[in-house]
Amino acid sequence: MIVLVLNCGSSSLKYQVLDMKSDDNYSLLAKGLVERIGEKMGALTHRVPDHDKYTVEMPIPDHTVGIKAVLDLLVSKEHGVLKSLDEIQAVGHRVAHGGEYFKGSSLITPQSQEEIEKLCVLAPLHNPANLLGIKAIKELMPQVPQVATFDTAFHQTMPDYAYTYAIPYEYYEKYAVRRYGFHGTSHKFVAAAAAAFAGIDLNNSRIITCHLGNGSSITAVKDGKCIDTSMGFTPQEGVPMGTRSGTVDPTIMSYVAEKENLTHKDVEKILNKKSGLLGISGVSSDCRDIEEAAKAGNVRASLAQDVLCYAIKKIIGAYTAALGGVDLIAFTGGIGENSAPTRFAAIQGLEYLGIEFDEAVNKTIHGTEAMISKPTSKVKVCVMPTNEELVIARDTMNIVKSLK
Ligand code: ADP
Repeated sequence: MIVLVLNCGSSSLKYQVLDMKSDDNYSLLAKGLVERIGEKMGALTHRVPDHDKYTVEMPIPDHTVGIKAVLDLLVSKEHGVLKSLDEIQAVGHRVAHGGEYFKGSSLITPQSQEEIEKLCVLAPLHNPANLLGIKAIKELMPQVPQVATFDTAFHQTMPDYAYTYAIPYEYYEKYAVRRYGFHGTSHKFVAAAAAAFAGIDLNNSRIITCHLGNGSSITAVKDGKCIDTSMGFTPQEGVPMGTRSGTVDPTIMSYVAEKENLTHKDVEKILNKKSGLLGISGVSSDCRDIEEAAKAGNVRASLAQDVLCYAIKKIIGAYTAALGGVDLIAFTGGIGENSAPTRFAAIQGLEYLGIEFDEAVNKTIHGTEAMISKPTSKVKVCVMPTNEELVIARDTMNIVKSLK
């Protein structure tokens, strides 16, 4: 089954076309990115394996025009990978927030679409953009079934004591304020792939998945199900990120707001865009820049690294307690897959858990799956590149197949 996977943001969209023969037998036909939607001039970058990338600039006023340009390219003579658009049998969308309603991926129906719309209040930047993609496909390929895969769904198995905040309960009842967690598709994929890679039975396992990128979250996975995760009501909570603070004492911000005469919107922006690695270092939000600056002797860049790695280590410790021990720790995301110093510093000092870290191997691993603990290590540590698009394509294929 040929599946088009779409990840629509407010001004950009990523796509992949996968030929899914089964869950584990698939091939990537093409992928790409549409950028600067709604600006004067947009851009489309299209990649086909073993071919040079193709980039074209053109005005892309909205998502429908952007998706139409992608569909045209997919069947074009020069850059196409399909004979006809009829070959696309399903479209899978990444959708940010599924609230408490969506506990797994779902076929898009008028009812599920309405639920996604209702959830825009919880993800005002993301769900509306995701819906634009769903509506564009409805317009361009009305006969093709669509499926939504939610960033929050994998975390819906958390027990109430893990997702409830100790604030007046009425805010949960009235406004659905609770921990939801994000990156669920990545955590789900990485937990299963890392368990298989380590030769561990997922259904009888205690795994901690560390998704560390521009946004970062850590999840405790017991017997294949999420029991806790570090992001919360929004993707703001947890470990420090590129520009997001992660967990802070909430009263700090009202204190600073009063001193600096800030509104709560200003404060939100500071926590979201000016904090994290950027906020501490003053150098950059990018882990590579931070590593370079720290090497060159920049003390605040070095401190930013230390704050991040200490936070990761503390959450690994907390989740080891929550899981009643740990069998496997998996690193993924741009930083998790590529930054050997971050992995080293986050794991250093956890030997007492039964980890024998293999720094000689760790140093050599960038973006490939690898065991970075020694063969004798009681607790395994590995790097596992994430593949959210594959999960979306699998879920889409399985849901659409079940319709027949
Ligand atoms: P997003 O959350 O936007 O998907 P990514 O998962 O792509 O982000 O992660 C981006 C982060 O990964 C950036 O901080 C970047 O510096 C970091 N990163 C990418 N490659 C490397 C590398 N070789 N060494 C250290 N950090 C890296």
